[in-house]
Amino acid sequence: GKVLVSGANGFIGAWVVRTLLEMGFAVRGAVRSIEKGAHLREIFAAYGDKLELIVVADITQEGAFDEAVKGVDAIEHMASPVHFSAVEPEEVIAPTVKGVLGMLHSALKHRTSVKRVVLTSSTGAILQDEAQPKTFSELDWNEQALQQVAKMGSATPGHTKYRAAKTLAERTAWEFVEQHKNEIGWDLVVLNPPFVFGPTIHATPSPDALNLSAREFYKVFTQPSFPATLEKSGNCWVDVRDLARAHALALLNEPAGGERIIISAGPFVWQDWLDAAPDSSKYQKGVAGTGKDAVHMVRYDVRKSARVLGITAYRSMAETARDTVADWEARSW
Ligand code: NDP
Repeated sequence: GKVLVSGANGFIGAWVVRTLLEMGFAVRGAVRSIEKGAHLREIFAAYGDKLELIVVADITQEGAFDEAVKGVDAIEHMASPVHFSAVEPEEVIAPTVKGVLGMLHSALKHRTSVKRVVLTSSTGAILQDEAQPKTFSELDWNEQALQQVAKMGSATPGHTKYRAAKTLAERTAWEFVEQHKNEIGWDLVVLNPPFVFGPTIHATPSPDALNLSAREFYKVFTQPSFPATLEKSGNCWVDVRDLARAHALALLNEPAGGERIIISAGPFVWQDWLDAAPDSSKYQKGVAGTGKDAVHMVRYDVRKSARVLGITAYRSMAETARDTVADWEARSW
């Protein structure tokens, strides 16, 4: 079958393209310009015409994906703005929601060939700040981010604006499916990853060109003052290669249809990553071992990913840290 991957030149997108090609799928990658596709052409040259690229310059334009969806069997939609720098919440909410809605409208028009749409949402659409540690599941929705944006507008923290955008976009997708259930010949799978780390294969000419999550990871190793509380501040994470595999499994497992699925390897504080990495004088070390007593306020129940996608093991912190550091070393930054 042929799979449309939007945001194909991004951190996760490039790994999804690679994983699908390795599994024998044909891939149509959507990128914003010919130039943005050049690196993909280069790294996947061996796959010949199994990889097609299509330019979708602006995902917010009506009908933007009409050409891109033609003749594909499935869609992996991950093109979406990933930054915490919006001033007005709408700056990030509008393109995130319009991108999802536009893709679904295009898929509706071409329902004869499309059988499944996989949307890359985020645990940002799930977690909320709580007073006590909590294990969140697919039943949870981030109402808090929506309330904060409604109340605080531009004064809302940047990451909360982003989470509100991901929450609204995912909700819009489920509503679209409900409204059009008698017309669409496809089903929807939503994947909700937390922080995604690991080696990069997309074009990253400098550390500044890394996507947000990989850049944060790099900063923790290379900027001794960042963040000030290595042993306290953290989140949950997943290796980009495990997440890419989950995107492929979401196509292959029939029961995934209609499900939102958390894909998470577990919690971390930043100090854990410094401890997990191979010993090197090039990077800051923090204070070894101080992360182990951390209280993790947010954890995820990943039983659904095991049940529905068969994902029972994730890469370890040691493997992800080792491969990420090796990736930096291999570059001429
Ligand atoms: P990247 O920034 O590396 O990739 C984002 C992709 O989306 C790029 O291809 C980018 O194109 C494209 N894109 C962004 N805005 C637009 C737009 N307005 N029009 C068209 N294309 C656009 O990020 P990631 O790979 O990390 O993220 C991919 C997906 O995964 C996103 O949906 C994100 O929300 C989600 N996600 C990421 C997490 C993480 O920790 N990395 C965690 C949870 C979810 P271009 O290169 O041209 O800008």
